[in-house]
Amino acid sequence: MSNFDYDLFVIGGGSGGVRAGRLVAGMGKRVGVAEEYRWGGTCVIRGCVPKKLMVYASQFSEEFDAAKGFGWCVGESTFDWKTLIANKDVEIERLEGLYQKGLANNNADIINSRAELRGKHEVYLKALDKTVTAEKILIAVGGTPVRNSGVEGDEMCITSDEVFHLNELPNSIVIAGGGYIAVEFACIFAGLGSHVTLVYRGEQILRRFDDDIRNALYEEMIAKGIDVRLGQTFSKIEGTSDGEKEVSLSDGSIVKADQVMLAIGRSPMTKGLGLDAAGVESDGRGYIKVDDYSKTNVDNIWSVGDVINRVALTPVAIHESMCLIETEFKGNPTKPDYGLIATAVFSQPEIGTVGLSEDAASKKYAELNVFKAHFRPMKNTLLGHTNKMLMKIIVDATSDVVVGLHVMGHGAGEMAQALGIAVKMKATKADFDNTMAVHPTAAEELVTMYAPSYKVINGERQEG
Ligand code: NDP
Repeated sequence: MSNFDYDLFVIGGGSGGVRAGRLVAGMGKRVGVAEEYRWGGTCVIRGCVPKKLMVYASQFSEEFDAAKGFGWCVGESTFDWKTLIANKDVEIERLEGLYQKGLANNNADIINSRAELRGKHEVYLKALDKTVTAEKILIAVGGTPVRNSGVEGDEMCITSDEVFHLNELPNSIVIAGGGYIAVEFACIFAGLGSHVTLVYRGEQILRRFDDDIRNALYEEMIAKGIDVRLGQTFSKIEGTSDGEKEVSLSDGSIVKADQVMLAIGRSPMTKGLGLDAAGVESDGRGYIKVDDYSKTNVDNIWSVGDVINRVALTPVAIHESMCLIETEFKGNPTKPDYGLIATAVFSQPEIGTVGLSEDAASKKYAELNVFKAHFRPMKNTLLGHTNKMLMKIIVDATSDVVVGLHVMGHGAGEMAQALGIAVKMKATKADFDNTMAVHPTAAEELVTMYAPSYKVINGERQEG
């Protein structure tokens, strides 16, 4: 046994940190895990999980409406924000308990304290006012929403940290940003009945996603009544005497709302963490630098999750921890695999995607076959709804391998998980064609698009 207090000390009780702490402790190692806020990290406490519960809540308004087309009379429906928040909090508390239980069952020390590095083997635990030592240290402290937009009055804004605990549903909200969080919350609040204005600085929401998907979601959001202002930024936020906020935009227009939310990205939580004391290098934005095995420049310190500048997604943080355990505790060097990560945006309609956008694929491959279906799914036919679903398959014409797959519509996130397996296995378009359709589903379109909608040759779209 080493002279250190712990074989592994983990700073941060989120998805990446808890997975590493639990499994290494389960191997009989002495493990301590410190968390300064709540167990489960961003994903469980103020991210993916509560967000998805709110997505479900916000979908009912459309479902009640849809029911009419199928002969149902639902009657007057009302929504109670406080009930949603209270029920959501109970579920989050349950999950938080499970995270702690997983650590406790494996005999890891659960330490409710801020932890800071004091040296390459020393960790200071603020709540206990004590320093412990560890042979190996894992930094998995995650990220936090960017609060400073550089605009006067931005201290009046909420972020995704506060949005889960508002006292009441805002009648109106202005959201800045065009990424995952901005788009998801714009749709959540619109579904719950708020008037939503989304202000994005770029030419179209969801940069780096496939352009057809971006355009199609934009159209659907507009159709839902969301006021999307493209090519705009906030220039000032002021409080009004009636308790509202007045947001001045770069085009000179003014939008009034109960709440203003910044969803303009996240930054790593490395401030005051003691990286210098341990000699751990970070980049100019505070992200911890790691090698291909998640190791920092200090030989006994690793880092995973949103605090490194790789891919800020829960399953990726967990995967990084699993690889680290293989490498350092099982003697089987394993690099995290960042290729072809399927992902979903829980907008309404939702998006599921894996692989390259058409634009990115056209820069990589000389010739593409693009298969596209934009159609009204069966469920919408009895409603008189015009809402459409979009499916797009991008194929490298030379090898016939599917290099990008994008779906917008009901169940797109669930589809992305299964399609991710096929694309990761390098399925060809012929494999898709050889797969029997599941009928009647929307997803059967994916295996019944036999002729390309168009080709892209050397970056140029060829019609006909
Ligand atoms: P994103 O990086 O997705 O989006 C940030 C948005 O803010 C972009 O539209 C960006 O514009 C814009 N922006 C950045 N700086 C400014 C500024 N100064 N003024 C105005 N606009 C600005 O970040 P999010 O915060 O939405 O999400 C963080 C990460 O969390 C995501 O990248 C994702 O990895 C993860 N996440 C995943 C989810 C999922 O899997 N469903 C859900 C939520 C989050 P531009 O595009 O022009 O740079």
